[in-house]
Amino acid sequence: MHIFKVIINSLVFTMVIVFMFHTSKTTATTFPEDRNGLGTHTAWYDSSIAAYGYTYHFDAARTYWNYNSSKVHISKNTGSHKKYQDRYYVANSEVKDLIGLAAYYQYTWFSSENVGSNDYWDYCEIVIYENNMRASSNYSSNAVKMNIAHEIGHTLKMGHAPMYYGANYYDSVMNKGFYPIYSSTTDYDRQELYFKWGY
Ligand SMILES: [Zn+2]
Repeated sequence: MHIFKVIINSLVFTMVIVFMFHTSKTTATTFPEDRNGLGTHTAWYDSSIAAYGYTYHFDAARTYWNYNSSKVHISKNTGSHKKYQDRYYVANSEVKDLIGLAAYYQYTWFSSENVGSNDYWDYCEIVIYENNMRASSNYSSNAVKMNIAHEIGHTLKMGHAPMYYGANYYDSVMNKGFYPIYSSTTDYDRQELYFKWGY
């Protein structure tokens, strides 16, 4: 009798774990609400991108997300910034180990204000930090592309990929860290795009 009880208890436990992981995947990895342009919008490149020599890396990072879903395409503007266009920058940071940042904004009647990841966004801003990327032993052209693709992922309402038992579980640029970009969009990242924006 006792052994059956142990087996049943462990089955129940396993089912609870599977259920928890399943629901966490579908609720916690993309941000709620829409953004201006939905998945189809324009990114303005600040002159710092060309100045630091990262134009090609930003283009490759946009391409990582483009051409997967008919609902998702980020175009590029290197001219003057227009309202509702996302803003992309390269800078240096005093904050140790900070390699990238995404921030989200809503326009007000006089300006714009920083809002949370769970709010509606009029536009986003992303910055990658040159000094901290170069200070990393993982610094490479492909790691820079991954870092940018990660921040662009946030502008598409992608959250961080879930970790299990403290380890990265999915192949995804939405894992935290600084490592080479995948040669093509991973299954996980494509599924998350479909989940958020459609096919
Ligand atoms: Zn992130």
